[in-house]
Amino acid sequence: MGMATPVHLSLLSKTSPSHLVLAFPGTGSISHKTARFKCLASQSGFFTRLGRLIKEKARSDVEKIFSGFSKTRDNLAVIDELLLYWNLADTDRVLDELEEALLASDFGPRITIKIVESLREDILAGKLKSGSEIKDALKRSVLELLIKKGNKADLQLGFRKPAVIMIVGVNGGGKTTSLGKLAYRLKNEGAKILMAAGDTFRAAASDQLEIWAERTGCDIVVAEKEKIKASSVLSQAVKRGKEQGFDVVLCDTSGLVPIFSGLHTNYSLMEELIACKKAVGKVVPGAPNVVGITGLILTKLDGSARGGCVVSVVDELGIPVKFVGVGEGVEDLQPFDAEAFVNAIFS
Ligand code: GDP
Ligand code: MG
Repeated sequence: MGMATPVHLSLLSKTSPSHLVLAFPGTGSISHKTARFKCLASQSGFFTRLGRLIKEKARSDVEKIFSGFSKTRDNLAVIDELLLYWNLADTDRVLDELEEALLASDFGPRITIKIVESLREDILAGKLKSGSEIKDALKRSVLELLIKKGNKADLQLGFRKPAVIMIVGVNGGGKTTSLGKLAYRLKNEGAKILMAAGDTFRAAASDQLEIWAERTGCDIVVAEKEKIKASSVLSQAVKRGKEQGFDVVLCDTSGLVPIFSGLHTNYSLMEELIACKKAVGKVVPGAPNVVGITGLILTKLDGSARGGCVVSVVDELGIPVKFVGVGEGVEDLQPFDAEAFVNAIFS
């Protein structure tokens, strides 16, 4: 009997900058890796194929990513002007302005300094001799960082059926919407999806998810009456997922409140999330495999000129960004492709 492997996707929204509190207990995916050895070949084949298909899709949707990051690109276009007239004597001023542009697009200070100082070194060593060489080096260093620190960009579903994905994040961050978009994507790849309305805090939350279930043609488990604990909704869903051969159970959860607005509420929500996690693991006896946040979905990047946050998040948290949300439609969740991203922000 397989055990359900919760994959946690945490979600960071550009309009909720307090997201960094959401490093939900534990990071890494060690139990994932051990589980892999026990997998059945047929199942692993399915999920690997699913992962590959999603990756291929990522390439074909480069245009969506490109348009999703248009504001960030506009913001960074100043770099082109700067570099167009670059000459050696001008280096300090140009690099100062480059630094400002990166900071304004939410590349964090740490990564910005790292990038700018390495450019300065290479310029002074004579390795970069023109504006366009500097630009290429800039793109290369951002790409390298994204690949080195967040290399596991494709969604790894583990090899147990059903794969259980819990979406956690701040209130209003875009969890439910991302869940719906993710369902749409996975379903198109042939996966049988079950949604679980685990946000039992807000009355309207399950209605919202039901709309997404209809829109995407997916099954859904909702609490039958009020005041039902989220953890029992989720364990019910995982049970049904197992019994009826679903490939993926997507669990919606209540949002955490941004940190400045109420630690106490956050605490009880955290408790609830932990209970959910345990409940999911309990569906199969002897399955205490609790994994931490294994990936991030960054949402609402379409409305933001601060797409550089993708880079600082990867740099700071060392957790791969799996998807980016670039709009509210079913197709507006894009697998994160580092190269497409770099080309989109530095055109
Ligand atoms: P939740 O509280 O975390 O479940 O957040 P919701 O999924 O309900 O989203 C809150 C609002 O943000 C909704 O109006 C969504 O349509 C909107 N939203 C979510 N993701 C995105 C995105 O990637 N881009 C844009 N522009 N809006 C989004
Ligand atoms: Mg929600």
